[in-house]
Amino acid sequence: VPRVRFAPSPTGYLHLGGLRTALYNYLYAKSRGGVFILRIEDTDQTRKVEGSVDALIDDLKWAGIECNEGPSTNGNYGPYVQSERLNIYQEHIQKLLNNGSAYKCFCTERRLNILRRDAIRSQRIPKYDNKCRSLSDKDIQEKSNAGTPYCIRFKLSSDCISFEDMIFGGIAYDVTLNEGDPVLMKSDGFPTYHFANVVDDYLMGITHVLRGVEWQISTTKHLLIYKAFGWTPPEFGHLPLIVNSDGTKLSKRQSDVKVEDYRAKGIYPLALVNYITLSGGGFDHVIGEGIRFKTLEELAEEFQINKISSHPSRLNPDLLEECNRLELKRRLKDDQLTKSLIANLQNLIKTKYTGENLNISEEHIKGVLLWATARITRIEELVTPKFAFLWILPSNKKLDVNKNLFEKLINNLEDLDTFEQDSIKDNLKHFSTQNDVQFPALMKMLRSVLSGLNEGPSVAEMMQLLGKCQTLERIKAVIR
Ligand code: GLU
Repeated sequence: VPRVRFAPSPTGYLHLGGLRTALYNYLYAKSRGGVFILRIEDTDQTRKVEGSVDALIDDLKWAGIECNEGPSTNGNYGPYVQSERLNIYQEHIQKLLNNGSAYKCFCTERRLNILRRDAIRSQRIPKYDNKCRSLSDKDIQEKSNAGTPYCIRFKLSSDCISFEDMIFGGIAYDVTLNEGDPVLMKSDGFPTYHFANVVDDYLMGITHVLRGVEWQISTTKHLLIYKAFGWTPPEFGHLPLIVNSDGTKLSKRQSDVKVEDYRAKGIYPLALVNYITLSGGGFDHVIGEGIRFKTLEELAEEFQINKISSHPSRLNPDLLEECNRLELKRRLKDDQLTKSLIANLQNLIKTKYTGENLNISEEHIKGVLLWATARITRIEELVTPKFAFLWILPSNKKLDVNKNLFEKLINNLEDLDTFEQDSIKDNLKHFSTQNDVQFPALMKMLRSVLSGLNEGPSVAEMMQLLGKCQTLERIKAVIR
C-alpha cells in the first residue's frame, strides 16, 4: 500500500504551493488505495507561528483533503508532530555516531561566521570545512568533559549523487560540491529538517515522497542519510515551481497565494482545486484544451504521476474565475447547496444594504442566481453597484416622465399573463408603436426607472428578474 505524506512546517499560512503538494499527495494515495499522512515539521522553533497548524488543517479540510493519519487523527506511526519525537531522533542519531557516519562538532558560532565571511570575501562558496571530522577521540572526550556545546554533523560523501525522479527523470547532483558536512542535530537537542525528515519518512513507512522542486537539491543528501542507516529509501518525485502567467516567481507577499485569501474572496474549494490541477498537469486533460471541471473523486481516478509536467506551472487567473463559475453552476443543480447559496447571498445583501427596504425573497434570489451564472463568477459580485437594483429601490426622485404614457404602460403590463423576457419585449415593442413613442427612448426611460442606471441587462430581462410586482411598483413610484 502506498504511503505518502504532506509535511508542512508551521511557519505561516497554507499557500498555493503547499495546497498543491497536499492535493497531489492526497490524490496519489486515493488513486491507489493508499494512505495520506499529515506530518508537522516544527523542528525550527524560531520560525514557528502560533495557530498556524490549526489554520492549516482547516484550510486542507476546506479543500476536501482529509488525512488518514496525522496530528488530529489516530495512526500507528505517531506522534505526527516532530517536536514530540525528540527522543526518537536522539536514539537514531546515536546509531549514526556509533557507525561513524556522524560526528560531534564543537566549532563555535564565531568560527563558523569567520569561515563564511572569508569564503564570501574570496568569492568561494561558503561551506563548513569539516574540521571536526578529524578530531581525535581524546579531543572529543576532553571537550565533552568540559561541557563544550556541540552539534552533530553528517559525513557527506559523493557516494550517492543521482536518483530517478518520478517527475523529472534522472537527476544528478553531488552535494559535496556546494556544501560542507550538514548539521543533523543542533546543540539544543533539536534535529534539523534533513535528519528529522529522513528518520520520519522511514519510520512512518513512506513509500513515495512528492514535494516541491525546491527540495530536489536536498534529495541526494537525504539518500546518503538513508544509506548510512542501511535503509531502503522511498521513491522521490518533485513538483515543478508554480509561477505567474508571465513566468515570474510567485511571491508569498502577494496576497494571491494564501489559501485563506481565496476563501475570503468567495472562491470555492473545488474551483481552487481544479485551477491547480489544470495548471500543473497529471491528468488526461491537456492544458489549453478548455476546461473540464472535475470532482475530487474524478481527479483521483484520473491522476497519473507521469503526466505531471516538469515545466513550471503557469497560473492563469482567468481560469480560476472560470472554474468558480462552473462550481457555482454545479452547486445550483443541487437543492441543498442552492439553499446555502441563497442564505449566503441573503447575508451578503443584508450586510451591504443595511437599513434599506430589501427585496430578497428566496424565490427572487434563486432566479437571480440562475440568471447570474453567465455573468458573474463569485456571488460577492452581486452586491456591487451594478447589481444593486436587484435588491434595493433605485433613487429616482428627479425623473421626469410622461405620466399619461406610464399609466397606460402600467395597465398594459398588468394584463400580461406570463411575465417572461420574450413576451415582455414583444409587448413593449407593440406598446411603443401603438402609442407612437420611439422604442429606444422608452427603453432608456424604463431602464432608469427600474435600475437608476444607464446600462446593464436588457430592460425586458430586468423586468423578468424583478418580477411583475416589483416592476410595477417601481414604475408606479415615479409617477404617483
Ligand atoms: N517541511 C518541509 C516543507 O515545509 C517539507 C519538505 C518535504 O516534503 O520533504 O516544505
